[in-house]
This record gives sequence, C-alpha cells and structure tokens, in this order.
Amino acid sequence: MAIVSKILVIGGGISGLACAWRLRQLGRPVLLLERGPRFGGVIDTIEQNGFRFDIGPQSFTNTQALFELIDELGLGSELLQADPRAPRYILRHGRLVPAPLSPPQLLLTPLLSARTKLRIISEPFRHTRPPETDESVAAFVRRKFGSDLLANLVAPFISGVWAGDPEKLSLASAFPSVRGLEERYGSVIRGAMKQRRQSGGKRSSLCNFRGGLSRLAAAIAAQLGDSALTGAEITAIRRSPEANSHSFEVTYKFGAATESLGIAAVVVALPADEAARLLASFHPKFGGLLGKVEYAGVAQVSAGYRLDQINYRNVETGLKGFGFLVPRSEGLRLLGTVWNSSLFPGRAPGGMASFTSFLGGMTDPEIVSYSPERLAAIAHSELSSVLGITGAPVLQHVACWQRALPQYNIGHHGVTSALRTLCAETPGVFLAGNYFAGPSIGACVEHANEVARNVADFCSAAP
Ligand SMILES: Cc1cc2nc3c(=O)[nH]c(=O)nc-3n(C[C@H](O)[C@H](O)[C@H](O)COP(=O)(O)OP(=O)(O)OC[C@H]3O[C@@H](n4cnc5c(N)ncnc54)[C@H](O)[C@@H]3O)c2cc1C
Repeated sequence: MAIVSKILVIGGGISGLACAWRLRQLGRPVLLLERGPRFGGVIDTIEQNGFRFDIGPQSFTNTQALFELIDELGLGSELLQADPRAPRYILRHGRLVPAPLSPPQLLLTPLLSARTKLRIISEPFRHTRPPETDESVAAFVRRKFGSDLLANLVAPFISGVWAGDPEKLSLASAFPSVRGLEERYGSVIRGAMKQRRQSGGKRSSLCNFRGGLSRLAAAIAAQLGDSALTGAEITAIRRSPEANSHSFEVTYKFGAATESLGIAAVVVALPADEAARLLASFHPKFGGLLGKVEYAGVAQVSAGYRLDQINYRNVETGLKGFGFLVPRSEGLRLLGTVWNSSLFPGRAPGGMASFTSFLGGMTDPEIVSYSPERLAAIAHSELSSVLGITGAPVLQHVACWQRALPQYNIGHHGVTSALRTLCAETPGVFLAGNYFAGPSIGACVEHANEVARNVADFCSAAP
C-alpha cells in the first residue's frame, strides 16, 4: 500500500471537484477519485444533430463563490447570462399566464384572488414571529398569505426547482433567508425590500456556458490533471492500522485491479446513501443519519422541434421566456418545461427550438419507474397540448434519476447538525455534497469551499 500525505476527495460531481480545486488553490496535495466514466456527476451536456442538451441542471444562479471559481478557471469568456427579465409562465386552466416577478405584478396577476392580494399588501404592516417548531413551506405560506398563493405559485415553484412537496419541505432548511426575514423584521416583504435596497436592487440572472454546463466540471478536471481519475470506485475506508490514528486506508477498484492507498484526510463528496455505505465502518450513527436524507426521483425529457410545428406565441414576447411551471391542479404529469433555446444561444439548429421537461418529484414518485419510451410519450403529448405542437419531435432524450435531489424536509436541519457533530468527533473525515447547504450548483460550490478550508486547517493542525 502506498502511504501518501495526500487528501483524498471521493466523488467527481461538482461538490467533489470544487472541493479538490479549492484544496489545490490552498496549496494542498489532493487526489480525486470518481467511479463513473466522466466527471460532473448529475451535470452532463450532450450534443446531437445540432442540438445541445444539458442533462441534469439547466442553468445556475450567479453566486459570488461560483463567479470566483469561473474566474479562476478562465471560463469567464464562455459564460452566458439569460435575460433576467425573461418571463416565466404558470399554466392556469390550460393557458400560460406570466408568473408575477415584482410586487406590482403580484397585485395584477389573475393567479391570485383579491383576498390574497390584500394579505400581500397588508403583510408589511403586520408583525409576526415564526413558530418555534420546524415549519413546512406550505404552513408558512398559508399562515402569511393564504392557500391560493401556495397552490398557484409556491407549490409549482417547489415542484420545478426542488422536485419537492411543500407540505414536507422545511422553510428553515430550504429557505433559511425567508425565515430569517420574518425573524429579523417581523415581515418578509418589508425585510426583502430593505435588503433589496441595501444590495442596490440587482436581480441575479441565470447563467450557463456556451458549450453547456459540463464545461464547468471539465475545466476543473482539466486543471486537476493526473490528480483526478475516473473509473475509480472507492469500496472501503478504514483507519490505518499501522500508521498514526490520523491516517486512513482506502480501497478502490480501478479497472480489473483492486488498489489501496494511505491518506491523511478524506472528503466524502457523495450522495447520502453512498456516503452512508462507506462510512458505516467508522460509526453506525453515520448510516443512521445519512439514511434519513430523503431524495426525490426525477425524469427529464429533452426535445427538439421545428419552429413551424409550434403554434404557441405569447402576444408580446413570442416564444421568449424561461419556460413554464405546472400547478398540480392542472392534472398534468409535467412539473415544468425549460425553453432552452430561448434562454441561451447555441441550443438548437436554425429554425428549431429545444425544450427540457421534468416529471416526477415527491408528488409523483411512481413515474420514475416508467420506461424511457413511456416517459418520452407523456412529455411529448403534454408539451404539445400546452404549446400547440403538431407532429412528432425531431429528437428526444430521456434521463432518469431514482434519487435526483435531496429533500430538505422537516427535521433536515437536525440531521445536518448531528452530522457536523459526528464529523467533528471523527478527525480527518469530512462530508460535502448537495444534502448539506443547498442543492443548487452555487450552494454546492460554496459548501465545498468551506469544507476545503476546514480540511486545510485540520492538516495544518495535525501532528
Ligand atoms: C434533474 C436535476 C436538475 C437540476 N437542476 C438544477 C439547476 O437547474 N440549477 C442548479 O443550480 N442545480 C440543479 N440541480 C442540482 C445540482 O445539479 C446538484 O445538486 C449537484 O450537481 C450535485 O453535485 P454533487 O457533486 O453533490 O453530487 P453528484 O453530482 O451526485 O456527484 C457525486 C459523484 O460521486 C460519484 N460516486 C458515487 N459513489 C462513488 C464511489 N463509491 N467512489 C467514487 N465515486 C463515487 C458519482 O459517480 C458522482 O459522479 C439539479 C439536479 C438534478 C438531478
């Protein structure tokens, strides 16, 4: 067994890659091992017949940590920003209605009743305090604004972004800043307006890269060079019997061979169930806690159509916009569809449009067991009914994850706090991943940076 003073990062998704990159920037020798044939984890981009489809995430929000990373990688010139004013639509009685993105639009939208609008207007004048308990997003919205805001705006957003169920999702874990506004100001609208004024009123836009989102993973992996390997599956981690108690022995399969190596610290940047399996030998509590993280399954159908097949035109914008979300009351299985070619250039050949539809999530768990053909047929039929599409798609691609997105449900904060304590009691073992500080790419990168700094501090302090 080779004994090295290296830090091992397990998992070549964005969490593992960003952590390995930050450790490298902090001057630490690092090795990253990824089980699959490519880096990126759930992030992938495919090109077919002139279409460029992002598989998994479709865009990211520009956070400070992400922009620093993009800058360090020299990817700035490849960055694309969607128009922040691009309309988003909500399906209402079969028709697309613009989602209200500003306070005046909230008051004019047909999606909300007069009573709810009155509650919105009066909210800044009512001082409330959040309950002591871990409140669900649904309970919070009903308490503050009423049930039609929940059904027509919040629930579709939760389905589209989290694949989640607002009755289960914890406000404090999933939207800590919203709970913070109520705690601090007694009103979320007054608090949000104050914060918006302080930040100069900038609206963050959605971003991607000219070559698709996989550019981010590819650029980090290229910079890591020989320090990042694909096709290497970690099968076991244990404390090294011979060396001092702060080193580990890691076993991994690489091709037909089984290799092992000694390392000083390990970052487990894996989905919770995989992390649980590898860490069971350290403490049974790891398995118990990581097993409590619930995941939602998601199916994704990317599709290309000729523009002349699509009858839908918004009077003002044509087929311009982010896409649409579907409230459950509409009776469709689509959670929503992103209009990729209207958001970013280079997504479809001339005269064509590309779309990505999502199905499944916590409110329709069964659909991820359907065959790709059945998923493709449902997505095509429902998208056709919304956009007035005639004829068959030019191209379709189906992807499906049984465990796509971690759910920050009621009690999630307790799980992550207990995991932090457990890691502190297990020197040299660190956890990164999308179940910790938010599932978005930006949140994964921010958390990976924090983990990398903690690992570097640990290594500096180790004897
Ligand atoms: C359908 C979908 C849509 C999304 N949309 C968006 C979006 O629009 N915007 C946004 O910001 N975020 C979005 N997200 C969320 C975001 O993409 C993910 O949360 C994030 O990419 C997860 O990265 P990760 O590295 O934590 O995990 P993963 O990407 O799951 O990476 C984990 C890696 O570990 C590897 N691995 C597993 N076991 C082992 C082992 N034993 N040894 C070695 N390697 C192993 C896996 O192969 C994988 O590559 C979306 C996610 C999904 C699934």
